[in-house]
Amino acid sequence: MNWEPWTGCYPLSDGCKNCYFYGPHAKRYGQNEITKTDKFDWPIRKKKNGEYNIKGDKILATCFATDFFLPEADEMRKEVWAMIKERQDIDFLILTKRIDRFYESLPEDWGDGYDNVNIGCTVENQEMADQRLPLFISYPIKRRFVACAPLLGPIDLTNYIHAIDHVSVGGETSREARVCDYQWVLDLHEQCKQANKTFWFKNTGSQFLRDGIIEKVNPFKQTTYAKELDINISDGKPLF
Ligand code: SF4
Repeated sequence: MNWEPWTGCYPLSDGCKNCYFYGPHAKRYGQNEITKTDKFDWPIRKKKNGEYNIKGDKILATCFATDFFLPEADEMRKEVWAMIKERQDIDFLILTKRIDRFYESLPEDWGDGYDNVNIGCTVENQEMADQRLPLFISYPIKRRFVACAPLLGPIDLTNYIHAIDHVSVGGETSREARVCDYQWVLDLHEQCKQANKTFWFKNTGSQFLRDGIIEKVNPFKQTTYAKELDINISDGKPLF
């Protein structure tokens, strides 16, 4: 399940170029204004009988359509941390490209990290990996994952993978999508295999280079296609 406590974002690096925030969604709703969604307090909403709307033992993908560490969300994030702390029975997967704002965005009692928080750092190429991941692996976080998406070039994770629990990979989805080369995906898969880490090839992207041919892949078929290639590495738990 996805939880987007706020909406809105703006570009930070090359991976943002074709973000859906600049497509039809942006024309309709605007893009740069960071505002609460109507699901802002979703994890702590309760039914009349006092039970939470969302039952425990769930995984909530948080801020997968915005950025958790946006400076404009600093005040809202304080409330979100309180909700995350209240719902120890839910695993929150938090995604960001702005990992350099980690320390200034934490709750006071963070310590070595909340047990129910997985933080994911997005990197689209080697330059961003070398910029973001040294910071990312130096921070106190209980579980870390790297989202190589949209994958825009080969990425060597040798210097970081020892401190990462999981890697996901995806191509770019857009009319103007840049090519995702399957060899880059296989290289990341091999790095995870060697390091004994879990790996999820989540989607091929719209322009998928494989066996010397660039295939145009319908957005609704990209996840299935990636799955059929059968290169995921699982530990039995759901991949993300
Ligand atoms: S950080 Fe993420 S949500 Fe924000 S513009 Fe870039 S790709 Fe889009």
